[in-house]
Amino acid sequence: MGSIIKNRYLILRRITQILILFLYFTANYYGWKILAGNLSFSKLFDTIPLADPFAVLQMAFAGAVISTDLIIGVLIILFFYGLIGGRAYCSWVCPVNMITDLAAWVRRKTHHEKDNLISAQKIKKFRYFFLVIMLVVSTLVGAAAFEFISPIGIFTRGIAFTLGFGWVWLLVIFLFDTFVLKNGWCGHICPVGVMYSIIGSKNIVRVYHEKDNCTNCGECLIVCPENQVLSPVIHKKSDYISGIECTNCGRCIEVCNDNALKFTLRYLIKQKKGENHEKTANS
Ligand code: SF4
Ligand code: SF4
Repeated sequence: MGSIIKNRYLILRRITQILILFLYFTANYYGWKILAGNLSFSKLFDTIPLADPFAVLQMAFAGAVISTDLIIGVLIILFFYGLIGGRAYCSWVCPVNMITDLAAWVRRKTHHEKDNLISAQKIKKFRYFFLVIMLVVSTLVGAAAFEFISPIGIFTRGIAFTLGFGWVWLLVIFLFDTFVLKNGWCGHICPVGVMYSIIGSKNIVRVYHEKDNCTNCGECLIVCPENQVLSPVIHKKSDYISGIECTNCGRCIEVCNDNALKFTLRYLIKQKKGENHEKTANS
């Protein structure tokens, strides 16, 4: 029971990711109408459209006419992740995260966390360029370019229909993350993750850092897939994780034995700050 509570977000994330794949599968094989389609475009209860903003943006760059359903689907996604989720798509929805998390776990267990064949520092901003490149290529070829190579689409279609040789691409990503570059795909290449980072940059759900509880043990830094976002809080320069690359996975909260990290809402952080100022002024 203790381990379930300790890994509560991890368990909930896996349930969500697998449930989404299961619903796509049942929509295709049994005609269930709960969630049909794929992660680029779905319909919830055969009524509510949901569309991936990056896929639709590529279509727009490719010169396609964007239907009303797609526009509504994008607006729903923008509203949800922009207001609440932040980059949570990456850790709570995307199935590729299960593969990249597995690769990170293998690295930790084999004590190879820091062994990279490519310098992470040198390609720090590559994913942002790659997003732009994909839009340019979409314009040139007149089709949504990233969708052809997207492991997210391959994984989702693979579960709903058949994986075919798609598993080779997924294996390449696993091997790349395990042996070539830590958090290589999600942290340095994938443009979908970048898109959700930008969309969710002002979201209200954030990880709050209780400075007084923190013992600087560094456990959170070990498990965080984007540990550069933890640096300002660990160095006590920020009260909450403000970096847009945080995936709101909650892993840092789970491994913190000092109860120094927790999910909270941005406006509550401001209130807390105000209370602390008042306390200091009165003392
Ligand atoms: S970065 Fe891309 S592949 Fe990785 S979890 Fe996010 S959307 Fe999925
Ligand atoms: S800071 Fe915490 S919630 Fe954000 S990505 Fe890292 S481990 Fe996940």
